[in-house]
Formats: sequence, C-alpha cells, structure tokens
Amino acid sequence: MKRKIIITEVGPRDGFQNEKQILDTEIKAALINQSIDAGFKSIEFGYFTDPDRIPALADTEAVYQLINKPADVELKALVEDMEGLRRAIAAGVKNVKISVSASNTYNLLKFQMTNDETIESIRDRVELARKNNINLSCAVSTSFGCPYEGKMSIATIDGIVKKLIDMGIGEIFISDTAGMGNPREVKEVFSYFISKYPETIFSAHFHNTRGMGMANVYAAVEAGVTRFDSSFGGLGGCPYVEGAKGNVSSEDVIYMMEEMGYGTGVNLDKAIEVARYLEKV
Ligand code: ZN
Repeated sequence: MKRKIIITEVGPRDGFQNEKQILDTEIKAALINQSIDAGFKSIEFGYFTDPDRIPALADTEAVYQLINKPADVELKALVEDMEGLRRAIAAGVKNVKISVSASNTYNLLKFQMTNDETIESIRDRVELARKNNINLSCAVSTSFGCPYEGKMSIATIDGIVKKLIDMGIGEIFISDTAGMGNPREVKEVFSYFISKYPETIFSAHFHNTRGMGMANVYAAVEAGVTRFDSSFGGLGGCPYVEGAKGNVSSEDVIYMMEEMGYGTGVNLDKAIEVARYLEKV
C-alpha cells in the first residue's frame, strides 16, 4: 500500500500574486481546470484580500465561478481578514486558509498588527467559518526564518501553534515563506510538532529561494508530513520578501514522490502539460 501524499497546487495564488503580468480570468480558470484534470485533489485558487494591494488576484470570485468543482477536490482560498472571509462565504467557497507570521516584524509589515493581535483576530474568523461549515486551516508563515528577524525558535512557533490548536484549527502549515530553512531544521521542526500534537495535520510549504526546496520536501516527508504545497512551473514568491523565489515546483514534487514509491494521484505528464501551457500564456 503506497503512502498517500496530497499536493496542493498553489500556483493560482502564491504564483499569480507575484507576477507582474496579470492573466485573464479565463486563462487562470483554464489552468486550474487542467490541474484538476491532471489529478490534483487540492488547489489554492485565489486570495480574498484587498484588490488594490494585490490586483492580480482581484478576480478571485470570478475565478471560482468559472472552475470545475468535483466533490473530491478541495478548492481553497486564502483569506486576509473578516472581510475576506465574508467574501469567500458569499462566493460559496468551502475551504479557506488564513495566516499569521512567526516573525512579529513580518507580521506587522503584512497585516499592520503584531502577531498576537493577528492571533486574536483569527478567533472571529474561526467562529464565522464554523457557523458556515467552512473548513479552515492556518499557515504559520516565516517559520524557518524571516529576512528581518532571522531564525525562529521552535518555542516561538509552538507558542502560535498551541493557540491555533486551542481554537480548534485542525490543519496547520509550517511555512518557509522566505526560503531560509534547511533539511535538518525541517526534519527537527516537523518531527517535533507531529509527535507533540498527533491529532493535528501539519502541512509543509517551501520556497526555493536558496535552492533548498526539494531537499526540504524530502526532509519533511521523512518526518512524516503527508501534505505539501507546490506550484506549477515553480511559480511564486512573496511581496514582502525581497528576492524571494518560487515555491517548489509541482512537477518536481510529483516526480520525486512517485519515484520514491508514494502515491500522489497526479498524472505527471498532464502536470507537465499544465506547466507548458502556463509558460505559453
Ligand atoms: Zn508562499
């Protein structure tokens, strides 16, 4: 029996938010529908945030309207705040992801709040999501380092993780937003959280800023992680981290997992076709 790995295609969010050229809504929808056809069971299709701040994702509602919605595919949107969550609910979205930064400086830059204030603000979103039967997960961004504050201690991450779990959040992403983590740290951090909180799903989100992406994926899978974010063609970045590079590429992650004997359910040839189409557009 192959161990199952779920790969979330985050290119439509993490990728497009960093591209200078804004793609047509129809092209975005086509890329997402092709990804669904390729076998992805989880896709982060957009971001409910201030459209003036991230104009490339202002059409998140319209994208959701146009994409196929097979029952077995988790279609997920990032939401910035209560306003974003209300928009997601109005659009009929069933899966949302929110985030807080391990680094306080980064959190202030991104949300204009301390990370403690952001955690407090998450409470209302958790409640509203629950009332509307929406599946909510949370990312702890910059967990493996922040360009302003440097490395984050496990104790710092754990302080946030514990509060999120206490609020009833069942899936937490330990995210390497700036691409500063190395495989040894990744193995240590994920092993720590997986053994400390066995009821919680810990998912991985890596960026390739310093070429550590795939090595970090390997370290995480060795630590027992079964859910990974990746991006078609390795698109991605971060508007608040100078020089941040893309996510690990979906094609590479699928290839590595399948070659190592894990089951992703994604057809590699079709995933490569999606990346080729992306390149073209
Ligand atoms: Zn990212």
